[in-house]
Amino acid sequence: MSKRPYSGFYFSPDVKAFHMVVKMKDVPGALSIVLAMLPDVVDLVDSVSYTLEDGTAIWSGFGKALSSKETEASLKQLLEREPLVLDCQVKQSEKGVVVDSFHAGLEVAPDRPAMVLPTAGFSRICDHLARILGTGGETILFEEGSALGKLTGRFLNEKLAQGKLDARLMAALGMYRASGWGSLDIEVERPGARFRVTASDCPECVQAGRDRDECGFLRGHLVSLVSMLANEEFRSEETKCRLRGDSTCEFILTRQEGGVAARAPGRRKLR
Ligand SMILES: [Zn+2]
Repeated sequence: MSKRPYSGFYFSPDVKAFHMVVKMKDVPGALSIVLAMLPDVVDLVDSVSYTLEDGTAIWSGFGKALSSKETEASLKQLLEREPLVLDCQVKQSEKGVVVDSFHAGLEVAPDRPAMVLPTAGFSRICDHLARILGTGGETILFEEGSALGKLTGRFLNEKLAQGKLDARLMAALGMYRASGWGSLDIEVERPGARFRVTASDCPECVQAGRDRDECGFLRGHLVSLVSMLANEEFRSEETKCRLRGDSTCEFILTRQEGGVAARAPGRRKLR
């Protein structure tokens, strides 16, 4: 599995590069027509396209100029020649970088804004909490992970088709994997009742020190997510953790007979 480059900017120290945004009519074939205009002028390096609710679509992409004579104006003029193009914006690189100035932020789903945070930063924040607050910090991690897991589970319950929990959980974890939450693998040990989730590159401990011995945020997140998807209480245990020297983190999610809430780490006195 490979990681997708983030497409908010493009470094091009040696060659002039452009960021282009085209708003076009959302009709079949429109994107191919627009892209077919570009091969003689730019070498496309990264692009994304999506449709809007109003019958239009956006294509946004970065390209390296094939000629040093290419300018923002010449490229804009070329794109605007196509009648399907309603509007366009072209920006040239400066000092070796060109930034997408059209978009401001990301959405993981409609009305669910997100930000890009290097996993190393997240991992260090988790460490710092445990270093300063001891087990209190670990409790915060578990509870915050759990709160976010509940929210996401509620959201996915509205979006995912109803059906067996196993398939819904697999679909959900696939979405997490694609979003950078690590290479989460799932094994169904008992259909609807017991799952083994492994993460060889768990984001919570990717750059951790020695202040913790478990990935409480992810454990809390997973158990609340599965509980929401199942509409039943599960409990969780992290049976292997890279913070304890294992090669992977492993979480066991088990349906709780009797419906007791997911367990948070024990609270001790704050340091
Ligand atoms: Zn771990």
